[in-house]
This record gives sequence, C-alpha cells and structure tokens, in this order.
Amino acid sequence: MPTIARRIWIADGCIHCYWCQNLAPLVFLADEQGTCIAAEVRVDGRTSDNRREHSALRTDVVSADDFAFLPFIADGCPVQVIRLEGGWNHLGVADPGLVVKG
Ligand code: SF4
Repeated sequence: MPTIARRIWIADGCIHCYWCQNLAPLVFLADEQGTCIAAEVRVDGRTSDNRREHSALRTDVVSADDFAFLPFIADGCPVQVIRLEGGWNHLGVADPGLVVKG
C-alpha cells in the first residue's frame, strides 16, 4: 500500500473536555491551555496544536489502522475542532486529498 502523509491538527475553540486524550493519549495532550498533538507522533518532533505546522504523523508510530480510528474521535469532539487530512478512500486507495474534517 502506498504511503501518504497523514495530518491532524486542532483548530480554534477547544473547550478542554479531554475526550480526545482519553481515547488516544498517545496522540492528544489536553490541558487547561488547549489541546496539542504530541511530539512523539509527529515528523517534526514538536508539541503544539499543529495548526500552523501541519506536520505529518509518523507512520512508524501511527499506523493506517490507528489513523482510521481518529475520525471517530473527531466526530465526538463537542466543538468539532479536530481536523484530519489524508487517508484511504472506501476502496482502500491512498487519497492524499481526503479531508475528513474541516
Ligand atoms: S475533544 Fe475537542 S474540545 Fe475536547 S479536548 Fe479534544 S479538541 Fe478539545
């Protein structure tokens, strides 16, 4: 299967409910200041909301199966600020233009 960049970031408006962190603590770091995408899962090795950097996720840490679970988490965000980009379409074909949210 071809490898494509997969990205996740947090838009403005997080209300710090901890839903995302509770379901995927490797990816999300939530606190009173907001929610970050953890350095351990990012190609650029930084911890931030990833809104400006749009760093790709490390494929050796976040598998395609892991990524496939993230839209469920994004759908459950009460303020819909989790954005995902890249993935596989319903035929299992790499689709770098796929935007799941946002
Ligand atoms: S689920 Fe949404 S509102 Fe809740 S902590 Fe995560 S990003 Fe913030």
